[in-house]
Amino acid sequence: MSMETLLKIREMGREIKRKRQNEEINFGYMTAPCGLPCFECYLYLAQFDEEMAETIAGVHGLSKDEIKCKGCRAEGGQCAHLAMECRVYKCIEKTNMKTCAECNDFPCEYLHPYSDQAMKPHNTKVFNLCRIKNVGIEKWAKNEAGDILDKYYYGTWTL
Ligand code: SF4
Ligand code: SF4
Repeated sequence: MSMETLLKIREMGREIKRKRQNEEINFGYMTAPCGLPCFECYLYLAQFDEEMAETIAGVHGLSKDEIKCKGCRAEGGQCAHLAMECRVYKCIEKTNMKTCAECNDFPCEYLHPYSDQAMKPHNTKVFNLCRIKNVGIEKWAKNEAGDILDKYYYGTWTL
C-alpha cells in the first residue's frame, strides 16, 4: 500500500471517529484478546463509511462487505478478511481471561512479531498488552491505543 493511500485512510478514519466521538464504546469487548484495538481498526471503522470501505476493499482486492469487520469478539476470532484461524483466540476462549495480559505465559510464541507482516498492526500486540497490564484496558483504550497505532504506521523512529 502506498503512503498516499495510507494517509488517505488515516484521514478518513479520523473523520469517522470525530463523527462517532459521543458514542459509548465497550473497550473490554472491542479490544481483541491479543491486544489489538478493534475500535481503532480501519476494517472496523469502514462499516461506518462507504468511501473508506471502498478504498480498503481496493487495497485488499476484496469486496466492501468482505473487508468490513465488527471486531474480533463479535466475529468469533475470525477477522473478516483473513482465512486462517487465530491461535490466540482459540487459546484464550478456553479460559476466563479477557486478554493475554492476564496470562501467566504472556508473552507466548503466538504473539511473536514477524517482519513480513510489518505493515499490519500485529507487531503492536505485545506493547499494547504490556500497557494494558500496566494501566488497564480503559485507560489504555482512551489515552493510548490510537496514538500507539498512529505512531506505528506514521511516526518517526526515535531513541
Ligand atoms: S480486522 Fe482484526 S483488529 Fe480489525 S476489527 Fe477485525 S478483528 Fe479487530
Ligand atoms: S498462552 Fe497465554 S499469552 Fe499465549 S495466546 Fe494463550 S492466553 Fe495468550
